[in-house]
Amino acid sequence: PDPTAPDISDLAARLVAGERRALARAITLVESARPDHRAQAIALLAALPPRQALRIGLSGTPGVGKSSFIEAFGLMLTGQGLRVAVLAVDPSSARSGGSILGDKTRMERLSRAPNAFIRPSPSQAELGGVGRRTREVVRLAEAAGFDVVLIETVGVGQSETLVAEMSDLFVLLLAPAGGDELQGVKRGIMEIADLILVNKADGELKATANRTVADYAGALRLLRKRPQDPEGFPKALPVSALEGDGLSRAWEEMQALADWRRQTSHFARHRAEQAESWFLSEVRAGLLARLRREPAAGRLAALGAEVAAGRADPVAAAAEMLAWLE
Ligand code: GDP
Repeated sequence: PDPTAPDISDLAARLVAGERRALARAITLVESARPDHRAQAIALLAALPPRQALRIGLSGTPGVGKSSFIEAFGLMLTGQGLRVAVLAVDPSSARSGGSILGDKTRMERLSRAPNAFIRPSPSQAELGGVGRRTREVVRLAEAAGFDVVLIETVGVGQSETLVAEMSDLFVLLLAPAGGDELQGVKRGIMEIADLILVNKADGELKATANRTVADYAGALRLLRKRPQDPEGFPKALPVSALEGDGLSRAWEEMQALADWRRQTSHFARHRAEQAESWFLSEVRAGLLARLRREPAAGRLAALGAEVAAGRADPVAAAAEMLAWLE
């Protein structure tokens, strides 16, 4: 046995006791691609008690004020005695190795708050897709006793859907804008939002922000009613991360929505669906990983090229690859 391997039950116990170093260590473990680390991470995750935080997904394009909002909102929550973890899913980091999110210095005051934990997104290209390990980090943060887990992403590609799929509530942060810019928000994103917050509702931008809120409130009313929404949701509200305005209202709305969903069992049902789809996506990723190892890997690459060149049929090629698993 590896003498440097952590004692998993000890690590789990320290994590559950809320030791920050244990949480940091556990996160490093789940983010590692080393096979022995993976085995330890799996054992650790399986040893954790089922604790629940409120998972809030938050998306917004760069510059809209995500870091400012998370800092102000997070400090408000920690000020109420709540423990807050902030995680980031950054699609740019997987492509380029660089990160536009999760930089600790962006939320300096919050990162120093004793009840807060900020984890930058892994800068390494993740195996198996953006955010695959973030779900595991969410579980670690919950087991460590955090009350609120904020999962942040930029509005790029599929990352919003991914974050929505690991959250209980999904918040879209927008900037004040003229009416013609309303179309710029993709319909699909409007459809997954539970709360739209128009930030920078202060100073000269206040009137524009309020108009933008009214525009989005109107647009939200036109969407098909979802069973997981009580009357009045999804909602649009103005906030100012800079001045702190609207933050407690936003938190009240989030809690009201979460409470309603808990009472009507939408909350539990959503979690159950998420857990099942997480399980299936792990199985899928694991099967593909097996085919990407020898002896199948060579054939997988060759068939991929054949399919791309139009010389092999995608369905038949897939069937041949699946036969390798038997
Ligand atoms: P991010 O890229 O989404 O994380 O955005 P930042 O939090 O870095 O903010 C981008 C810019 O918007 C910065 O210059 C902030 O000072 C400014 N900003 C953020 N929130 C507010 C706000 O509530 N009001 C105003 N007026 N400016 C803000």
